[in-house]
Amino acid sequence: MRIKDVVAFLEEKAPVWLQENYDNAGLIVGQTATEVTGILVCLDSTEEVIREAVSLGCNLVVAHHPIVFSGLKRLTGRTYVERTVITAIQHNVAIYAIHTNLDNVAHGVNREICQRLGLLRTRTLRPKEELLCKVHVYVPATHLEEVNTAAFKAGAGRIGLYDECSFQVEGTGTYRPTEASQPYSGAAGIRSIEREYKVEYLVPLHVRHEVLAAIRNAHPYEEMAYDFEPLLNEWQTVGSGMIGELPEPEELLTFLQRVKTTFGSGAIRYTRSQIKQVKTVAVCGGSGSFLIKNAVAEGAHVYITADVKYHEFFDAGESMTLADIGHFESERYTIDLLSDWLAEKFPTFAIRKSGIVTNPINYL
Ligand SMILES: [Zn+2]
Repeated sequence: MRIKDVVAFLEEKAPVWLQENYDNAGLIVGQTATEVTGILVCLDSTEEVIREAVSLGCNLVVAHHPIVFSGLKRLTGRTYVERTVITAIQHNVAIYAIHTNLDNVAHGVNREICQRLGLLRTRTLRPKEELLCKVHVYVPATHLEEVNTAAFKAGAGRIGLYDECSFQVEGTGTYRPTEASQPYSGAAGIRSIEREYKVEYLVPLHVRHEVLAAIRNAHPYEEMAYDFEPLLNEWQTVGSGMIGELPEPEELLTFLQRVKTTFGSGAIRYTRSQIKQVKTVAVCGGSGSFLIKNAVAEGAHVYITADVKYHEFFDAGESMTLADIGHFESERYTIDLLSDWLAEKFPTFAIRKSGIVTNPINYL
């Protein structure tokens, strides 16, 4: 198994194009053709974690946080980032980061948090918009099935938990082949009247070229008629944060105490509100202040996140308790998530979880 096989698997789970534009997810150190000896999963690929990988015989570190965010202009070991990269290169250890792309998929960081809290009926708190388009294609009845199959296989027609979604309506198409054409049916200079279907599929923008190529391959016409339309729709399964419900309401402080224990928080900073009983809970692993207003608007009783600044606590208002449980703590189960994925995909391979607590914050 080579690094590129691991990368391909992880990017099928959490495509890199879903990362935020400030992020630097992907292979940061190393070469894709290198044979993998073992994988060490961690939150932060610090110098200590690289040394741990070496001692365990692992030459690939899969981290949640990218060690390099902005560019490196020199590698002299002045910062912990430079020292980590130098150590990794010296020991032939590759570093791969799966960050906001893992935050933004419905089965990623936030689902793991929801599961640990026992939340049901979970959905994305702020789905992403403008990542979808619609294609209409005009297909002769003889090739409807072939075109459908090709389009679905290329990634068209997926809506939430359903795939192979399309809408098709029968109609009549006309065309007149010119002398230079080689028509599938009909003859030059004579108007053809064909029984055709107009088929519509929802297509993620990033695969539209692949979908178009697949449809074109399956379509019999020399000139295929089609339209792509941009959509403003939200993509329900892609976006930031999650919201769900507890099976039974819990008293606020009892719930927060359970959160503290579950995530091993040294302290939880929270706001008082009118909420006494908790049923609806929003979550966002890591720095989630940008979703406070969304959590309020969606009716969350408690919003669990981290890295909240003093003034941002006021934004929670009276209708919701905002709880900062710590960045490391909120994402700690991401290590289990990633190692479970990798162990399931590569069952005979050494997948190790880092034993080093990389949380730089201590509580007194
Ligand atoms: Zn984080």
